[in-house]
Amino acid sequence: MEFISHFIGGEHIAGDRRLEVTNPSTGQVVREVADADATTVEKAIAAAKAAYPAWRDTPPAKRAQVMYRFKQLLEQHADRLVQLISEEHGKTVEDALGELKRGIENVEYACGVPELLKGEYSHNVGPAIDAWSNFQPLGVVAGITPFNFPAMVPLWMYPMAIACGNTFILKPSEKDPTSSLAIAELLEEAGAPSGVINVVHGGREAVETLLDAPDVKALSFVGSTPIAETIYSRGCTNGKRVQALGGAKNHAVVLPDADIDNAANTLMGAAYGSCGERCMAISVAVCVGDETADRLIESLKPKIAELKIGPGTDKGLDMGPLVTSEHRDKVLGYIDDGVAAGADLVSDGRGHKVRGYEDGFFVGGCLFDRVTPDMRIYREEIFGPVLCVVRVSSLDAAIDLINAHEYGNGTCLFTRDGEAARRFADSIEVGMVGINVPLPVPVAYHSFGGWKRSLFGDLHAYGPDAVRFYTRRKAVSQRWPSPYETTQAEFHFPSGG
Ligand code: NAD
Repeated sequence: MEFISHFIGGEHIAGDRRLEVTNPSTGQVVREVADADATTVEKAIAAAKAAYPAWRDTPPAKRAQVMYRFKQLLEQHADRLVQLISEEHGKTVEDALGELKRGIENVEYACGVPELLKGEYSHNVGPAIDAWSNFQPLGVVAGITPFNFPAMVPLWMYPMAIACGNTFILKPSEKDPTSSLAIAELLEEAGAPSGVINVVHGGREAVETLLDAPDVKALSFVGSTPIAETIYSRGCTNGKRVQALGGAKNHAVVLPDADIDNAANTLMGAAYGSCGERCMAISVAVCVGDETADRLIESLKPKIAELKIGPGTDKGLDMGPLVTSEHRDKVLGYIDDGVAAGADLVSDGRGHKVRGYEDGFFVGGCLFDRVTPDMRIYREEIFGPVLCVVRVSSLDAAIDLINAHEYGNGTCLFTRDGEAARRFADSIEVGMVGINVPLPVPVAYHSFGGWKRSLFGDLHAYGPDAVRFYTRRKAVSQRWPSPYETTQAEFHFPSGG
């Protein structure tokens, strides 16, 4: 069986402990991955620390050259990477390619690092005094990433962190680690010196070692909210800079004037794409008025019945399986819970079977109508192919509903009314907003982040915020007085008199 090792200081290191990696379409174990103990993580920290001084002193333009080559290698190896993502995650190959491309956009942004690190300069701020500020790297930084984007989410983090002069330790998800490792290896092939990028696999012990290590200066986390919150508080207590992106419950509001067929078409992709395992997936459709809800459901029902579901590695499908049998059982538990709570299960994906893949973790598309805010299927993140319809009487009621939810990652409004769209975008307490755009994921030169319990920390992921997150500002004031002047002692701030 293929074994996925750690990658530390340019070497593949096995370690004693192993975890199984499953292909969710077949239910079969396809690989084993190393499971780092504290000693292994400490080795990675030591390797990253040793590589840091020379990398910090490498001119930004040279660091950018590594990123240019990295982008080329990612494009060259795209077919292999897409297969790995799809095999271990279950998403369709087309979706895996989309994920990789969005990741590559972050590498492209990192290629502009000489411009991004330029800093600020003021001449003559006082007699013979010039002042400037620049952005300096932090040292060793780490990233902990979720299973649902094994290529893209790590690429949100380390291209920018490394381009800024830091060295990096990635702890990818243990559920689908192979593409994350393969991509990191390509960065070294592109010219990053050994120890600049390191990968340790595993779970809680590996993460806690990173959280407690004084040499790790900053930590980026993406995953579920309970873990994000713990990581944020423990990391901050340990004096680190932490950004921890958590879970979501993303609402799409449908107004009566919306083009319902178009809204339904785009909602299909937003709710069921990647089997609903996206932090920006739309999981609630808030319909204003009963007629809007009835029309939307009539449009969605046949589309859900026609979803093409199968092993993600086959071409031309809409949806693959869920990532593990445990996660499939959790999602099925939510569906049972929704039925028991009195929601109307209009489309029932339970018991969906794919011929030839009877042991895969498949669930068909599910649609609930008449969901109310007290139900668990409304309050909690399901992370599966389940869309809940909530009926409200007005746009204001929809806004109040969304603002009362604990999560605030993404949201969207379907309408033709510009005034309503503007009011919605202004007053909604959510970090990323779409108007007739169901998945408003910002492009790489903006930053990505939710509000409320979808993000712990101040700065968002990638884009301009990443430059701020992975650097610290240094302000320098410099005076070169004339040798013919005598400097007088000053005991007070200049008062201008
Ligand atoms: P998860 O929280 O289970 O795991 C995320 C990472 O944390 C993994 O690397 C995992 O090994 C590690 N981990 C798990 N348990 C831990 C523990 N007790 N202590 C320390 N580390 C631990 O999340 P997941 O199931 O891999 O991913 C799905 C979740 O991620 C969803 O909630 C989704 O909304 C969220 N997500 C959020 C965003 C965002 O940008 N906000 C993006 C992608 C995914």
